[in-house]
Amino acid sequence: MKHRIVVLGAGYAGAFAAGNLARRLSPLDIEITVVNAVPDFVERMRLHQLAIGQNLAFRKLADVFEGTGVRLRLARVTGVDPGRRTVAVTGEDGDGELAYDTLLYALGSSVAHHGVPGVVEYAFDVTGRSSAQRLRERLAGLGEGGAVLVVGEGLTGIETATEFAESRPDLSVALAARGELGAWLSPKARRHLRHAFDRLGIAVHEHTGIEAVEPTRAIAADGTSIPADVTVWSAGFAVHPIAAASGLDVAETGQIVVDRTMRSVSHPDVYAAGDCAYAIGENGRPLPMSCASAGFTNLQATAAIIARLTARDVPTIGLKYYGNHISLGRRDAIFQMVDTDVRSKSWYLGGRTAARLKSGVLKGAGWGIAHPTFGMPKRKRRLATVPDRAGVRAAA
Ligand SMILES: Cc1cc2nc3c(=O)[nH]c(=O)nc-3n(C[C@H](O)[C@H](O)[C@H](O)COP(=O)(O)OP(=O)(O)OC[C@H]3O[C@@H](n4cnc5c(N)ncnc54)[C@H](O)[C@@H]3O)c2cc1C
Repeated sequence: MKHRIVVLGAGYAGAFAAGNLARRLSPLDIEITVVNAVPDFVERMRLHQLAIGQNLAFRKLADVFEGTGVRLRLARVTGVDPGRRTVAVTGEDGDGELAYDTLLYALGSSVAHHGVPGVVEYAFDVTGRSSAQRLRERLAGLGEGGAVLVVGEGLTGIETATEFAESRPDLSVALAARGELGAWLSPKARRHLRHAFDRLGIAVHEHTGIEAVEPTRAIAADGTSIPADVTVWSAGFAVHPIAAASGLDVAETGQIVVDRTMRSVSHPDVYAAGDCAYAIGENGRPLPMSCASAGFTNLQATAAIIARLTARDVPTIGLKYYGNHISLGRRDAIFQMVDTDVRSKSWYLGGRTAARLKSGVLKGAGWGIAHPTFGMPKRKRRLATVPDRAGVRAAA
């Protein structure tokens, strides 16, 4: 009997992890199944581009995993039972259950509503493909002078507002910031950001926490009403409640609490990577939900799984956050380095060079996912023990 590794989610963390596991472990011992709700690899980092009408080509996961031995199960995960080591799924072929010996949980995140009235009913977001597509259709029907309000001054809010204003100069784009725009950037990078907003004609409402969203306006905490034909909610990411409901040890955020090797602290057969992992970086702080963290955590998780199954020492992958790379449309960007305390360093890179670099990062991430067998070792690793389930667990 083979050791069954089930990977939940085929986003940046899960898709790369599945390819990496298939690349290194022998199919004679291991069976890898990836469960994903949609058939494509969705480049979430480009969803604001999708929303504003740019044409993006998403790769089919079936093509990505073709010839790798990874089985793809298109289904929505509805629950995990870590006691029985099973995953409940529902798909076109109805409800089902998958058994695992090792689980890698990488279901990512979606929009955080923060319970603000009207957000669910009236606001749009760019955190998932279907919501970005819904926004795309709404924006396509919005005529000249249409008012778009982006709520949130985080990375996604900034990228969304600038992308929209650059691609659709006919719209009136505004951003509501709870604090000050780019307050966390170095003074020079902040000036760069403000110039970009001025150049693109984006109105900024600072110190404006939105407390309600209505069909044609948003209401701030002080009662100010901001007209908005379209409100785009970009006030953070939240993880799916599945992990918490399954009895795995989770943080207040609902993310799975993991040790340094990305192994669940409550269930050693379970690993987590990407947005849904509560992983502490080298600076002692939780890693931010980001593509970079999805990279570190999936590499660490797969390294640990492979090492434990093949009875080797678990290697340590660096969990260091270097900086933020923010697109400001297609022709401008800011790359802001941070120190170990996540304070912005004085140096930053801005303008076209930063934009080209960011474009390279996005392409590189997509390419890495699309070529799971790249760098395939000549000899794949065999399990350390006779591959029956109890034996493998003993080795782990
Ligand atoms: C518009 C936008 C721009 C961004 N820009 C940047 C950036 O510039 N830099 C950066 O570092 N980060 C950026 N991010 C954040 C980055 O995209 C996420 O941190 C990253 O996608 C996390 O990777 P992940 O694999 O954990 O999750 P995801 O990439 O979200 O993958 C999760 C996968 O799980 C699947 N899934 C979810 N629920 C289920 C279920 N119940 N059943 C089955 N499958 C399911 C999804 O379909 C998806 O394939 C951006 C995000 C957005 C929305």
